Amino acid sequence: MKFHIITIFPETFDSYLKESIIGRAITKKLISVKFYNPRDFVKPSSNNLRPIDDRPYGGGPGMVMRADPMIKAIEKASKSCKKKPKIIIFSPSGKNFDTEYAKKMGKKDSQDIILICGRYEGIDARVQKIFKAESISVGDYVLTGGELPAMILIDSISRQIKGVLGKYESLEEERVSSSEVYTRPEVLEYKGKKHRVPKVLLSGDHKKIDAWKSKGRGL
Ligand code: SAM
Repeated sequence: MKFHIITIFPETFDSYLKESIIGRAITKKLISVKFYNPRDFVKPSSNNLRPIDDRPYGGGPGMVMRADPMIKAIEKASKSCKKKPKIIIFSPSGKNFDTEYAKKMGKKDSQDIILICGRYEGIDARVQKIFKAESISVGDYVLTGGELPAMILIDSISRQIKGVLGKYESLEEERVSSSEVYTRPEVLEYKGKKHRVPKVLLSGDHKKIDAWKSKGRGL
């Protein structure tokens, strides 16, 4: 799986992509991540700045990312893809991203995916229309930019790709998982109060444990 990220802040990805499961997946060449900075496609002005944004038509607050440098960056990314890439543009009003979507994408492990990260008040709407990009939201809230959503997609899709998770982690993934988990000690004392691990988890009865996990505590 090849991820191509269109962003004016590529450095924001540095530490996340180096660590743990995703870092290993990159080292093992199971996934790759390339960056294309739209700013590189803007001619420097007389004061050596490369303005990427402009005022919105129709008025209103904030600035809008200009279409032309975004288009050039997307074209450059597309040229380095062997097959027709899947193009995703991030927006808080897009289709909700979920595990089902990640699983579907994870199956296409030879796919190129272009992820377009917006900033400011967003990207000139013509970019999405020209490339027929799928508009994706990572949740019902507004973030400062599309870089965190891109990292969420890379992480969530990558763990669905064969070989990315280790043997142990894959096994865990297939089991009934729970958002409420415990480890040693069995009894935790805090401010004079004893906090115990639920008895069912100590029972060794895996049918009961799975039932407990999926009953309100599971995902
Ligand atoms: N008023 C703009 C709108 O409703 O699209 C908000 C733009 S937001 C401040 C800047 C960028 O962050 C967006 O263009 C998008 O790329 C990204 N973004 C913010 N929240 C997001 C979310 N929940 N899901 C996906 N992308 C998001």
